[in-house]
Amino acid sequence: MRIRVYSNRKPTSRKVTQELLEKLRKAGFILDKKTPDVVITIGGDGTLLSAFHAYESQLDTVRFIGVHTGHLGFYTDWRDYEIDELVRSLKEEKQNSVSYPLLDVCLTYTNNMPDRHFLALNEATIKNVDRTMVANVFIKDELFECYRGDGLSVSTPTGSTAYSKSLGGAVVHPRVNTLQLNEIASLNNRVYRSLGSPMIIAPDEWIRLDMKKRETYSLHVDNLSLTNSNIKHVKFCLSEKRIHFALYRHTHFWRRVNNAFIGTSKESSERL
Ligand code: NAP
Ligand code: MN
Repeated sequence: MRIRVYSNRKPTSRKVTQELLEKLRKAGFILDKKTPDVVITIGGDGTLLSAFHAYESQLDTVRFIGVHTGHLGFYTDWRDYEIDELVRSLKEEKQNSVSYPLLDVCLTYTNNMPDRHFLALNEATIKNVDRTMVANVFIKDELFECYRGDGLSVSTPTGSTAYSKSLGGAVVHPRVNTLQLNEIASLNNRVYRSLGSPMIIAPDEWIRLDMKKRETYSLHVDNLSLTNSNIKHVKFCLSEKRIHFALYRHTHFWRRVNNAFIGTSKESSERL
């Protein structure tokens, strides 16, 4: 088994990385940055996002494992003090893997520039840099509404506990194959109207935004951001690709949500 250890720059993460690399070598694993079978991230969710994009072209063959060294770590389910157990489990090749849906974003330009595709683990967000964003929102090629506001965000179930949650979106179980559209400060009055609530689409549907103004937009895909003018439309759909996690610990999803956002599951069960 070929392994890559992918760490953030924090001193605690570096220390854990050194320790892990040594133990992996001793256990006879091959360390390989180019074509690993398993990528172990050391840090938090942000580190997992970066590693995901670094190995985006190898998602069919790469399985991820997240080791958590502080911060939130919603999707990193091994702790830094569990390194020995992690190496043992890898050695036993326990095949507890799970896969989650990803978002495909396609940008089409008004000039002759070729379309651009992006893959997101959490979400993609589009905003007008200078003024109100105006976009016709199509669901599966049928006009749904004309949106006015700061911007729109489309998230995967994995991303539903990230930016989408701050926008008032629902937390979605990652076994559900869907995308969620969230408004960012929409303009709603007698003249302008959009749905005003998050929307969860069916797996075979897609969302297309036709940008009404030839202005400058910022597009955020997970932790990447870029500025674009000449955008004609943006299409969001579920990707055919998925992210695979190895040695996944089946912590009850809603307990994970409680731990990250409320922190009372143990107490409340004791009180009941
Ligand atoms: P960041 O600004 O350091 O991360 C924001 C926070 O979101 C961190 O606490 C991060 O956890 C957590 N996070 C990331 N993905 C998550 C997930 N799927 N579920 C629950 N929490 C998650 O930036 P970053 O670490 O590079 O992450 C980029 C993400 O930040 C974007 O994809 C977007 O979802 C989110 N974001 C949120 C807002 C907002 O809520 N207003 C604004 C911009 C971006 P760790 O501490 O473990 O890294
Ligand atoms: Mn972070």
